[in-house]
This record gives sequence, structure tokens and C-alpha cells, in this order.
Amino acid sequence: MMTIAENLHAIRCRINDAASRAGRDGEAVRLVAVSKRVPLERLREAVAAGQTLFGENYLQEAELKIKALGPGIEWHCIGHLQSNKAKLAAGLFDAVDTVDRFKLAAALDRQLAETGKLLPVLLQVNIGCEVQKSGVLPEEAEELLRRINALPHLDVRGLMTIPPFFEDAEEVRPYFRRLRQMADAFLDKGLLGRRGPLEVSMGMSGDFEVAVEEGATLVRVGTALFGERL
Ligand SMILES: *Cc1c(COP(=O)(O)O)cnc(C)c1O
Repeated sequence: MMTIAENLHAIRCRINDAASRAGRDGEAVRLVAVSKRVPLERLREAVAAGQTLFGENYLQEAELKIKALGPGIEWHCIGHLQSNKAKLAAGLFDAVDTVDRFKLAAALDRQLAETGKLLPVLLQVNIGCEVQKSGVLPEEAEELLRRINALPHLDVRGLMTIPPFFEDAEEVRPYFRRLRQMADAFLDKGLLGRRGPLEVSMGMSGDFEVAVEEGATLVRVGTALFGERL
């Protein structure tokens, strides 16, 4: 079995190769280590191998891991978040990558007002318009983005998506391309990237190279890094 350090290295190389193929700089792509249901020892191994950016889906689990691993690590919320958990999430995470409705954004903003913290967030887009999936529909994204941009404590840095599943990663390409085009269009309109570089979070273990070719700046990789989840 490969060690986590070896997996990390292999994934990094694949990201860099995919970036080169697209004429991009591999440095512009960050790897989010998706650690849901991964035991703490394996996270420690990843940290020891230099990984400092993690994505967690569940609040209780994230809380334990964040406390256990201590400072120096950047934690992103990548799971569906209920508005009544906004307080916990706002205190726990360095970024929330799954904002998909105004109610949640407003609840986060209210909490942040108490601490004066500015929270980086991504707008989650349901790029395949799938009924069962979270995320704002593409045609409603601009209106929602305008409303969220008016909230003083959220720094909306870009878009995130979980596209429809296909065995063949090539079939996901058009969805990745569409998300990147949306993000660029919002950037041109001044609706994204107002405080820093544009972020586009897309691509998982099965398709992150295609996502990088199509302009991802964050890829979220779990299984390819940590192995199958429990
Ligand atoms: C679990 C998860 C991932 C990682 O999926 P893998 O296929 O294990 O790489 C990425 N993004 C989100 C939102 C997830 O929930």
C-alpha cells in the first residue's frame, strides 16, 4: 500500500501535469485534502507530509479534528450546512465553500458581526441542475451573488460545484468548463474576486485532472489521497 506522503506526491504531480497541458501554472491549484470519515492518525500523516489544507463535511467531526490538530492548518467546510449551524461553522472553519442560499449567508454574516471576522466563502452552484443536489441553480446564481455580496462579513471568492457523476471523467468536462465560464463572467462584472484572486473549486478523486485542465484553483481529493473511507 502507498503511504499518504506518496499519494500526496503523486496527486501533486498529476495536478502539475494537468496544469501544464492547459498552459496553466500548477502553483495556481491548491489541493484540499478531503478528510471526512478519515481517522485522525491519517490526517496527522498528511500534515507531516506537508499538507495544510483540509476539507470536512460534518461539523462534529470537524470540531474534534480541528482541536486535535491545532493551529497552522486551513479548514474548509465542504458539506451541506444548515442555517442553524451557522454559529458553530463560522467559529470553526477558515472558509465555507458551500454557501448556496441567502438564508445561510445571512446567518453566517450575523454570527461574524459579533466577532468582526471576515469569512472567505464560495457560492455552490448546482451546475447540472440535479434535483437532489445542493447548490444554487445557474440561472439564479447572479441574483444570489449580488445579495450575498452586500453582506459585510462575507468575502465571496468564487464558485464551487459537485457536477453530475459519470464513470468517464471526460463527460464531466463540459460541466467544469461551464462553471469556470460562469466564474469568469462574474469576475468581469465585479461580482467575484473583489478582495483577492478568483477561486473555482471543482474536481474530486476521479476527475480532478480534467477539472484542473478546465480552470480549477481548488481540487477536493479524498479517496485518492487517504484510500477508501470507512
Ligand atoms: C467526499 C467529497 C469529496 C472527495 O471525494 P473523493 O471522490 O473521495 O475524492 C469532494 N468534495 C465533496 C464536496 C465531498 O463531499
